Amino acid sequence: VIPPLRFLPATRATWHAEADVVVVGTGAAGLSAAVALAASGRRVVVLAKGELTSGSTPLAQGGLAIVTDPEDSFASHASDTIVAAAGLADDAIVNELVRSAPSAVALLGQLGARFDAGSLGLEGGHSHRRIVHAGGDAIGAELHRVLRAAIRASNVEVMEHSVAIDLVTDDEGRVAGLSVGRVDASGSLEVGVIATPAVVLATGGYGQAFASSTNPADVTGDGLALAARAGAELANVEFVQFHPTVLFVKGARGQSPLITEALRGAGGVIVDDDGRSIMRGEHPLGDLAPRDVVAYSMVKHMNNSGATHLWLDARSLGTGRLASQFPTTVSICRSLGIEPSTALIPIAPGAHYACGGVRADLDGRTSIAGLFAVGEVAATGVHGANRLASNSLTEAVVSGCRVGALLSQATRNEATSPPVSSVPTGGGVRASSRNALATAMSRHAGVVRDREGLEHVLAVLESTTSSDATPLDLATLEATNLHTASLLLATAAIQREESRGCHRRSDFATPDPALAQPQILRIRDGQIVTRTGAMAGA
Ligand SMILES: Cc1cc2nc3c(=O)[nH]c(=O)nc-3n(C[C@H](O)[C@H](O)[C@H](O)COP(=O)(O)OP(=O)(O)OC[C@H]3O[C@@H](n4cnc5c(N)ncnc54)[C@H](O)[C@@H]3O)c2cc1C
Repeated sequence: VIPPLRFLPATRATWHAEADVVVVGTGAAGLSAAVALAASGRRVVVLAKGELTSGSTPLAQGGLAIVTDPEDSFASHASDTIVAAAGLADDAIVNELVRSAPSAVALLGQLGARFDAGSLGLEGGHSHRRIVHAGGDAIGAELHRVLRAAIRASNVEVMEHSVAIDLVTDDEGRVAGLSVGRVDASGSLEVGVIATPAVVLATGGYGQAFASSTNPADVTGDGLALAARAGAELANVEFVQFHPTVLFVKGARGQSPLITEALRGAGGVIVDDDGRSIMRGEHPLGDLAPRDVVAYSMVKHMNNSGATHLWLDARSLGTGRLASQFPTTVSICRSLGIEPSTALIPIAPGAHYACGGVRADLDGRTSIAGLFAVGEVAATGVHGANRLASNSLTEAVVSGCRVGALLSQATRNEATSPPVSSVPTGGGVRASSRNALATAMSRHAGVVRDREGLEHVLAVLESTTSSDATPLDLATLEATNLHTASLLLATAAIQREESRGCHRRSDFATPDPALAQPQILRIRDGQIVTRTGAMAGA
């Protein structure tokens, strides 16, 4: 039995504002959209849940995938992406993405981004060197630096410490506004409504639904949950990519540091306690096999041996190369007393990337008029059942620029005045339930899943206690959104009775050709309804 969706406690608006476009989130997707909108003369408001520097984007180390080498081709980049997506990519959308990528990235160059000169990088699943780096292993920080500077120099209004809560729609179901909470130091929300005909969700993924994730604390599935409550179509939520090489720290919870895959591209090897390579003989690409393959091999090995973690051996790179190419990784390791040029790095898989999300096209259009979704919160058909490494920043920048261009040209559409309706209200979820839920998610909805484990997750979801936080506060908002993301994921995972891409079921160990379709969910009357079908034409 699938538990019903939990809605948020009622809120009372104490302030009002107006905008032509509200962009929710300040990662690569949201800031690209805002930069593209900046010259349009539109009144653009950007919401940042925390500081302008929050989100996954500034943490991205590996790179950004684009075709620049004459030996490489769009066809090859598209084909690698489609292979990784394990039968669920939308080929036309993938082709559009890889062709749009060079010009979108050139825009970042025009904004002043300094990409590393010299050879392009190689990452798992790519058949050519096409990964652009910056600052060695600091691509995200560099992109974010130039996007932030462009926004600060523009007339776009940035509201920091302001969190999107729920959509407001008009009587025809179109977006009419957004309820927003200004967050104070104690986590209390001062709630208001921004009247607007266009909301661009760029809120990132839902990694915090798991006990171990590379995603920062502010990535709590807010955009996915907000869209779900408003009745938008969501796609492929069961597909979460687990990164194989997340730094293992005993007893750690929440965000854990990532040890970049590029380290394996440069010669690093995953080994067991005896120093034996665990990927040799497992896959033709060895340590550079797709992430789901590596994560699964690791979990299998750990389950068989009873080990809590494995090791990354990067000693062969030597001190000089580690310091010049991987300064971020080296400083993360050193902060924990590990010297990667002489010692093995402890690692285990952790939740990393949400392949699914709000169903959208590459311009961000969703199934609700006036609601757009770009970047990791969106499911466009690019990543399908599994994301190819370094394609997410590419997609975030391309879709961000495209939705910005689209809304710059759109006929100015005044925010509709009432009658308006907001989504139903309920008790919300108590913040203290987060730990138990995240533990259940990591154990039963992680790298390997089965019906029994997923039913256990649904039972935990059913039993979570309602919040008595009235008025609504940030902790309740995030707990409720994580509950919703977990509910959607567990439901989609239990319904997908096969193994495909990064969704592995031990009770259905192979792909079922009859199920090679996106799974599309939406909420109706508080319950999840499902259909399967094509992604395009949101
Ligand atoms: C450690 C790490 C390394 C990575 N390395 C790479 C890489 O090398 N290459 C690659 O392609 N991808 C990489 N990824 C993935 C990639 O970084 C993300 O997919 C991408 O940055 C997502 O961008 P985004 O703009 O969609 O979301 P994010 O950058 O996550 O930004 C989301 C924003 O939304 C805000 N927000 C969330 N909820 C609300 C709300 N309710 N109200 C207001 N604001 C809200 C957040 O505060 C944040 O500002 C990595 C991810 C991590 C975590």
